[in-house]
Amino acid sequence: VRPAATLVHAFRAAVARAPEHPALAYFDGRLTYRETDALSDSMAGYLASRGVGRGDRVALMLQNSPHFVLALLGAWKAGATVVPLNPMYKSAEVAHVLDDSGASALICSDRAWEGYLRETAAGSPVRVALTACEKDLQTRDDPRVLGFDRLPVPADTDDLVAVARARHAAPGPGRDLTATDVALISYTSGTSGTPKGAMNLHRGIMYNAERQRTGHPVPEGASYFALAPLFHITGMVCELAACVANAGTLVLAYRFDAGVVLDAFAEHRPAYTVGPSTAFMALAAHPAATPGHFASFQVISSGGAPLPPALVERFRAGFGPYIRNGYGLTECTAPCAAVPPGKEAPVDPVSGTLSVGVPGPETVVRILDENGEEVPFGEQGEIAVRGPQVVPGYWRLPEATAEGFPDGELRTGDIGFMDPDGWLYVVDRKKDMINASGFKVWPREVEDVLYTHPAVREAAVVGVPDAYRGETVKAYVSLRPGASAGAAELSAYCEQRLAAYKYPREVEILPELPKTTSGKILRRELRYPA
Ligand code: ATP
Repeated sequence: VRPAATLVHAFRAAVARAPEHPALAYFDGRLTYRETDALSDSMAGYLASRGVGRGDRVALMLQNSPHFVLALLGAWKAGATVVPLNPMYKSAEVAHVLDDSGASALICSDRAWEGYLRETAAGSPVRVALTACEKDLQTRDDPRVLGFDRLPVPADTDDLVAVARARHAAPGPGRDLTATDVALISYTSGTSGTPKGAMNLHRGIMYNAERQRTGHPVPEGASYFALAPLFHITGMVCELAACVANAGTLVLAYRFDAGVVLDAFAEHRPAYTVGPSTAFMALAAHPAATPGHFASFQVISSGGAPLPPALVERFRAGFGPYIRNGYGLTECTAPCAAVPPGKEAPVDPVSGTLSVGVPGPETVVRILDENGEEVPFGEQGEIAVRGPQVVPGYWRLPEATAEGFPDGELRTGDIGFMDPDGWLYVVDRKKDMINASGFKVWPREVEDVLYTHPAVREAAVVGVPDAYRGETVKAYVSLRPGASAGAAELSAYCEQRLAAYKYPREVEILPELPKTTSGKILRRELRYPA
């Protein structure tokens, strides 16, 4: 099957196939494909009437809600490029992204607009602002549970809900996008530095959505649970786009909260979800979680962050499903390797690392040494990727593009190796290597050992300065609810299982580890505590 040119084309195909099927489910609210199409047409017409056109940038800063999807489709239907922003961004981060992308429109929540965005946007290129009635985007605990058709229409016409419901005429076909238009400028989440805007093409989104649909098949029309945030590339591609390509129902729950998510699993019986491994850790640790919550799933996959093999086994033993690993980056428009259907990822016998899968069709992964030469199977080097999902570069950064994509091949900054059967293994990020007395220590290997300890919920390992060794290994750990373990015990546990230079001589137990809103543990913040 050839993927649709853009998500808008895929959406129209789903409207034609299943107009009355729910496209979006949000607590008690449902929107069919036909309704979602009409409401997003109206959004597009409004944006067009305010001068937003082909190639203009529309910044979108919302949690997982129907409004996110209406605004996204509306902006694309108007011909624009969307700049997704993390709703947790502070004023300075938003200012940087609005300025750098040159966004002329900003779509956000009321609360954020009133709180600080009005001021932030004043000094930026933003001309059109739409807000989304966040007071009505509540969870089940709130009596005003959202029924989309019950949303009030405020007098202010610059309101997202009012605009969507006001039936603005959709812009003409002149604004139709093509596969090679820039769909998104995705600012990398900054776990390792200043955000850079990766230019994701529609082609990359749809290639990976189609791979997801065929590689992790569920029946057409099935429910997909959006566990990852839609503003992150994993959510956008592996959840929203894969769901639309399959004319499925996307179940949204605002933002990750383990209790709310478990309730939504029980209510919507989803067949498919993708999330960061930390979400599965949190769900597994929740006191209300039972195997019944996961019984409807045919596909559960983890993407965008390391997946400890101990978690996969613990999850299977406790709840039933096997978590499928997948490897991706913003610069690959989400995945570039995944575990094929019907298979399980092998664990490398030497390092204990779980494979991230095999590269997809038309995707070439090479492992390179410092001179850019390919290394033999089994040897470690930098992972480089070429394929239809790889972005053409960073927005307005020709130097970073030339450095990060020599000849169009993405240098991921991740160290990995490939076995003779083509399974890819990610060892760690190049930048996170710890140099202890000249010995290389990869934090992941130490973390994977910590995760086999029954008391450990989350682990992050970093290098800390050491007068004698240069750097030494330190572990930060959070514990499972009700579990107890001391720092000395955890250090000794690792000492028994790792070489003398690898085990963490220091262990610090924290209530919770710092994470990005997409759920990744932020080693950087632990390495340089504020
Ligand atoms: P920044 O680029 O600013 O540091 P980020 O790297 O977190 O932010 P993403 O594109 O979201 O931005 O993350 C991609 C990275 O996540 C990969 O380079 C890799 O290090 C890690 N990663 C993704 N999937 C896996 C996986 N299955 N196993 C191990 N690591 C993974």
